[in-house]
Amino acid sequence: MIIEIDNNSGFCFGVIKAIKKAEDILKLEDELYCLGDIVHNSYEVERLANLGLKTVSREEYFKMKNCTVLLRAHGEPPETYQYAKENNIKLIDATCPVVLRLQKNVKHGYEDIKAQEGQLLIFGKKGHAEVNGLVGQTDGNAIVIEGPEDLDNIALDKKSILYSQTTKSLDAYHDLITNIQNKIGENNLTYFDTICRQVANRIPKLKEFSKNYDVIVFVGGEKSSNAKVLYNICKESNPNSHFISHPNQLDLALFHKDSRVGICGATSTPRHLMDLVAKKLKDHFQI
Ligand code: SF4
Repeated sequence: MIIEIDNNSGFCFGVIKAIKKAEDILKLEDELYCLGDIVHNSYEVERLANLGLKTVSREEYFKMKNCTVLLRAHGEPPETYQYAKENNIKLIDATCPVVLRLQKNVKHGYEDIKAQEGQLLIFGKKGHAEVNGLVGQTDGNAIVIEGPEDLDNIALDKKSILYSQTTKSLDAYHDLITNIQNKIGENNLTYFDTICRQVANRIPKLKEFSKNYDVIVFVGGEKSSNAKVLYNICKESNPNSHFISHPNQLDLALFHKDSRVGICGATSTPRHLMDLVAKKLKDHFQI
């Protein structure tokens, strides 16, 4: 049996930075609040919870005061910062620099397009934290496009400016740009490539990786949109790909003693979780 872990899988630098900030603070403090799951991976959330990281929902956050709260890599809308100012909340801002730059660009883009009585469009998942942070830069006026069905929501006679959530697929974004251009005319659309290459560059590498094995085990959080995108890439390259969130979910019946097994994961998958999957296989097959 051959078992290999994809070296390109695992946390992106934005998530590594946020986790490091939390760990550094928890070396000095007993507890720290984090607004939303620090990463879409329940295993890692639990590990950090054991160190003292307490995840709070938005609802809970907007009742808190006089405390310290970490903002995760996805970013937050302006109202989160405003509430902190008014309620003596110290923010540890671990928003990824790539997301921060995008928020600034969306804010400026919105001011421009508003002056032209146009519309600002965001390609992304409705309700996703990063998308909410972006919509917040437009006073809630951005139109979020998740799929072709949302194209009915855009005005055909307005100048439009388009951005993408950082973790969307480049191919899907290009398809959407063409669809919008066909609908409102090329001259009416200005678009920006705002997809993070930490994710996009993994796609061609993951396609190649997936082809080299009999079985692919993809490890990712159930709530992670990045995990869904990357898992689908694996599945297209290798139909014998299987999604698990934890080594306990590994179906050992999928393997035999001569299997070539590739283990990979999302940008939110901790390396040690993939190591545990490899260990479980090695122990079972006594390698
Ligand atoms: S995927 Fe890119 S933009 Fe998103 S947190 Fe990671 S490094 Fe930042």
